[in-house]
Amino acid sequence: MLTFAFIEFRLIRMIIHLSSTVGPGEATKIAENIKAFHIQHGEQQILITSSSVKEVPNDLRDKTMESWVFDNDMQLSSKKYINGTREVAIGGVRIGGNTKNTLLIGGPCSVESESQIRSAAEMLKGMGLTTLRGGCYKPRTSPYSFQGLGFEGLQLLVKMREEYGLSVITEVRDATHVQDVIEYSDVVQIGAKAMYDQGILRACAKIKKPVLLKRGFGTTLQEFVQAAEFILSGGNENVILCERGIRTFETKTRFTLDLCGVAYLQEYTNLPVILDPSHAIGFAYGVTPLAKACTAMGIDGLIIEAHENPKVAKSDASQQLTYDEFAQLYTETSKVAAAVGYKIV
Ligand code: PEP
Ligand code: MN
Repeated sequence: MLTFAFIEFRLIRMIIHLSSTVGPGEATKIAENIKAFHIQHGEQQILITSSSVKEVPNDLRDKTMESWVFDNDMQLSSKKYINGTREVAIGGVRIGGNTKNTLLIGGPCSVESESQIRSAAEMLKGMGLTTLRGGCYKPRTSPYSFQGLGFEGLQLLVKMREEYGLSVITEVRDATHVQDVIEYSDVVQIGAKAMYDQGILRACAKIKKPVLLKRGFGTTLQEFVQAAEFILSGGNENVILCERGIRTFETKTRFTLDLCGVAYLQEYTNLPVILDPSHAIGFAYGVTPLAKACTAMGIDGLIIEAHENPKVAKSDASQQLTYDEFAQLYTETSKVAAAVGYKIV
């Protein structure tokens, strides 16, 4: 009896790819009939069923091309659905798929001034790297701390893209400016504190630009992946996960980088994974050793904070690398990447 109850309440979902003869209108009607969620990826009509549907209904068999059954709440992001890692393009660089690229993203925590962000752009360009980070809407713990330059900062990032040909990544703090970040950045970063914001997730689902979704520091892997499902199910297939440290009992480091979680995400999800050792440890001394450890796992990218003069940085001063330290990190992670068949790009 108990066993029966367990099976009855276990969550089952299905993804159904309808045959090419079924158009969007018919797919919507079918979805309404079987109470499924309907999405369209390219020409493909896709249904995702609720738990009451455990196999393709009889009258839908001849309209079904392929179907998958899941016994946990991870569907579009699951390796069971796509057996590999999705490929995502960031400017001219590709990660995931069979690329074996580890994208090294660098730049300050916050965009502070034109000369400061320009120095970071020049550093990256000089090293042959392609992707500049810099926060404009900062989700600070205190309202009295520097909150970021906002729209002015975004315009500075756009200027750096135009002048140096770099891709730019910047974070969304809340839904009020999500459209500005979507319009002006090449990769939209959803910060750890914003990860649960459904206004942001749903806005990022409607675009095709890559989204770097950071894991909340109190977020389970299940919740993290389900946040990614919001973006995927809305039609944006370019989702990248970012592990940036979770809160544990430890207080000597800012957070604890969850490499076990990374192994899990690599094993069970089809999404590229980028690691952020800067926010995890919170201190510059550990960033390069951690970056090397991350690289050894065969990862899709690293996002590292670096500042022209970390001591006077307006946010996260203790964890930002000098440009010399960043160059050293590049050299050392390149060797580790090569040892595991990857390339830092
Ligand atoms: C950041 O990247 O500067 C940042 C605020 O990160 P997180 O959202 O991971 O705290
Ligand atoms: Mn920061």
